[in-house]
Amino acid sequence: MSVKVTKTEALDYHRVPNPGKVAISTTTELNTQRDLSLAYSPGVAYPCEEIKLNPELAYEYTSKRNLVAVISNGTAVLGLGDIGALASKPVMEGKAVLFKKFAAVDSFDIEIDATDVDKFCEAVKAISPTFGGINLEDIKAPECFEIEKRLIEELNIPVMHDDQHGTAIITTAALMNASEMMNKNVEEMKVVVVGAGASAIACSTMYKELGVKNLIMCDSKGVIHKERTDLNKYKKDFMVDEVMTMEDAFTDADMVLGLSRPGTFTKEHIALMSEEPIIFTLANPTPELFPEEVKEVRPKAIVGTGRSDFPNQVNNVLGFPFIFRGALDVQTRKINMTMKMAAAKAIADLAKEPLADELKKEFGDLTFGREYIIPVPFDKRLFIEVSSAVANAAVETGVARVKEFDLESYKDKLSK
Ligand code: NAP
Ligand code: MG
Repeated sequence: MSVKVTKTEALDYHRVPNPGKVAISTTTELNTQRDLSLAYSPGVAYPCEEIKLNPELAYEYTSKRNLVAVISNGTAVLGLGDIGALASKPVMEGKAVLFKKFAAVDSFDIEIDATDVDKFCEAVKAISPTFGGINLEDIKAPECFEIEKRLIEELNIPVMHDDQHGTAIITTAALMNASEMMNKNVEEMKVVVVGAGASAIACSTMYKELGVKNLIMCDSKGVIHKERTDLNKYKKDFMVDEVMTMEDAFTDADMVLGLSRPGTFTKEHIALMSEEPIIFTLANPTPELFPEEVKEVRPKAIVGTGRSDFPNQVNNVLGFPFIFRGALDVQTRKINMTMKMAAAKAIADLAKEPLADELKKEFGDLTFGREYIIPVPFDKRLFIEVSSAVANAAVETGVARVKEFDLESYKDKLSK
C-alpha cells in the first residue's frame, strides 16, 4: 500500500516535536544519592574492573549486548548518491528507528566523514568496543566490499553491510518461493542479474550458494564476460564464457534480478525469456520496468519490486532488524552464510502461513501465490521466526558466545 507524502510533511516530521528521530533513554533508576553512587562514582568502578579482568563481561554490565552501530560515510545514500556523511544522517537515524520498532534493538547512527577505505576502517575499529554489532549502510561499491571484508576479519562482533546482505537475504527468500511456485529447480534455472554493484554482487553470491549454476551478470557496459578487460575483481568472479550480449543473456532465461536503475532492460528483453519467468525489478524508487509492462508480454510472470504499491515488495526491513536481534542475543562474532540462509528460509516459510488476522484489514486475504511470495513488513511473526533462525544457526555453526541455547525457550522469550 503506497502512501504519498509531501516535502513539507516530511520536513515537519523530522523537525517536530524535536529535531531528528532518535533520543537516548535510560534503563535504571536515578533518583537518590544512593542511585547516584551506584550509577556513577564510586559504584561504577566495580563493573569497570570486572570488564578489565574479563572483557566478555561487557555483555553483562553494559548496553553492548543490545547495541548496534548504524554506520555510513554517505557515499551511496538511497537513490541520492554521494551526498556526504552529514546529509546521510536522516537515513541512518531512520534505520535506528526501524531497529528499535521492529526488533527492540538499540542503535546509534554514526556518520563518518571519510571516503578513504583505510581511514574509514580505522574509525570504525576504534569505536567498535561500544557495540554488539555493526550495520554498515549506504557505502558505495566497490569500496564497500573491501571495507566490510576488513572489518569482518578484524572485529569480533558481527558486521553486515545491509545494502549487500540484507538485500541478498530477502531476494534469496523470494527466489526460494518463486522457484517453488513455478516448479523450477534453481540448479537448472538461467538467471540474469542486471547490475553489478553492492547489492547485485551479494545477491549473486548467495544465489550461487543456494544452487544457481547458470548466472549471467550485466553492468552498464553489458554482459560480464571473459573478453572484458575493464572488470574489478568482484565482477571477475561472475565472468561467463559464451554469452556476449544482453539479448543472449535474456534468451530463454527463467529469471531476471534487476539491481541497477530505471530502463536498463525493456519489454523486448522480457519477451525473449521463458513463458513463466520470475522478474524482480528492484531499482528504487523507479524500477527497471514496471509490473504492468512485464505483464503485457509475460502475463504469468511472478513480479517483485522494491515498492510498497505493488505485490511482492522486496524490503530490507524484513531482514536486518531480526538478523541483528538473533545475532545479539547469542552474542555472535560473525554473521556467516549459514545464518543468512537460515534467515532467508525463515522469511520464505512465513509467506506460506496464512496471513495474520491483524494484517487482513490492510492487505486482504493474501495467500501464498504469484502475488504473495514474500511476507509483508508488519508481519509480527518475522520477529520470532527470523531472529530465532539466525540465533540457532549461529549457535550451530559455533560463532555464538553463549554456551547454553534452547531454540524453543528462545522463541518463547521472543513471543512475550
Ligand atoms: P550500485 O552499487 O551503484 O550498483 C548499480 C549497478 O547498476 C552498477 O553495477 C552499474 O554498472 C549498474 N548499471 C547501471 N546502468 C546499467 C545498465 N544500463 N545496464 C546494466 N547495469 C547497469 O547500487 P546498489 O546499491 O547495488 O543498488 C542498485 C539499485 O537497486 C538501486 O536502485 C537501489 O535502490 C536498488 N536496491 C533495492 C533494494 C530493495 O528493493 N530492497 C535493495 C538494494 C538495492 P557499473 O558497475 O558498470 O557502474
Ligand atoms: Mg541502504
